[in-house]
Amino acid sequence: MTAEVLSIGNEVLSGRTLDTNFQVLARLLEESGARVVGHQAVPDDAAAIAAALALAHSRADLVVCTGGLGPTPDDLTVDAVARALRRRVVRDEAVLADVRARWASMLRAPMPPSNDRQADLPEGAVAWKNPVGSAPGIHLALDEGKHVVLLPGVPEEMRELARLHLAPFVRGASTISVDYCVVRTVGIAESLLEQRLGDVTARLDGAAVAYLPGQGGVDVRITVPGGLDAPARAAWSERARALVRDAAREYVYSEDDRPLEQVVGDLLRERGWRLAVAESCTGGLLGGRITSLAGSSQWFDGGAIVYANEAKTREAGVAPELLAAHGAVSEEVARALARGIAARFGTACGLGVTGIAGPDGGTPEKPVGTVHLAAVTPDGEHHRKLQLRGNRAQVRERAVTFALDLLRRRLLGLPASSTGAIGTPPGEPRAT
Ligand code: AMP
Ligand code: MG
Repeated sequence: MTAEVLSIGNEVLSGRTLDTNFQVLARLLEESGARVVGHQAVPDDAAAIAAALALAHSRADLVVCTGGLGPTPDDLTVDAVARALRRRVVRDEAVLADVRARWASMLRAPMPPSNDRQADLPEGAVAWKNPVGSAPGIHLALDEGKHVVLLPGVPEEMRELARLHLAPFVRGASTISVDYCVVRTVGIAESLLEQRLGDVTARLDGAAVAYLPGQGGVDVRITVPGGLDAPARAAWSERARALVRDAAREYVYSEDDRPLEQVVGDLLRERGWRLAVAESCTGGLLGGRITSLAGSSQWFDGGAIVYANEAKTREAGVAPELLAAHGAVSEEVARALARGIAARFGTACGLGVTGIAGPDGGTPEKPVGTVHLAAVTPDGEHHRKLQLRGNRAQVRERAVTFALDLLRRRLLGLPASSTGAIGTPPGEPRAT
């Protein structure tokens, strides 16, 4: 089954809204067994929607639209799609009852009549119940095996409806079943990883291997061949994972879906150790990443944002002489931050992050992107100097990832970094 996504909304075209719905939908469609062959961003305009729909139908079996299902007059996806497909619009009484019940359960004020529109469907369509909002999803089966699905634009609603209704529909309609095994790596560049993996594709009977970089790590995603029964699929996946593991070794942090912060948390929990963090250039992003994980209170105590030198001294006990002698962005200060914050919080482990995120503040000796990280555990201490590229946001984001990885490496008794690592300039001595 082929699919195309239409992201409908003036806010998407004006750049005020980033089209994250496309990313979510494309991934879900692909993982459910559809091949995404097109994507269009379309304004809230009936003629434009009709034209986009016609083009999409010329090349895809399934057209998934997101956006324009709200109650306000600027939301006209249902009317426009119905007109383009020459269907009447009919009000669905069951959906209307749902919309009203939802309103009554949340708000005291009477529901404005404009909300009734959210119960309007193109004739012959099926409504998919929306558990997190009022506008239902709409599924319309057309002639010749073609389908149109309309989903709301609000990302949470779109995602839930896609997960609950669209994915099962696509899995049922698609002839291929797609199963992936994913090995997640951190600290190694995509191209170096590919080089290390070498002829993995050949050794896996030509299976598709995708390298998916993001947030400073690279996921290796291997498509498990179809037509295997469950035990054979499990054996094949284990063989694939072993090949990647042997090639990428200490760069591999997860062979299931666990994110890096969870891997670190699990290692800490196994040891009964807790963590505190002192953050300068990441300004709380590290604590934010950790606490985005439900249950992190089991191993994370908290931390301090120590942006000013005085704060480094006051909150993490960094000696002013150390700051004066080496500068705030230095190995010595990173180590003092990690030790100091652990002492302050009474935790077994500490992480210190200090760096120059840019765009200003760089010097020839310490250019923008210079970041010093330190991790302390009862087993010892790791320091790592990074020379990161990218803008301020990227430097900060990657510093968080590498700080977590440094602690992972310390906990596992691995070296602080290895050759081939991102952020290690050639010729720089290995940090330990
Ligand atoms: P709508 O269903 O068109 O009323 O959309 C409601 C809200 O969802 C908009 O105000 C946007 O903030 C958001 N939204 C709409 N389309 C998208 C999209 N393609 N990606 C991410 N967010 C979106
Ligand atoms: Mg809209």
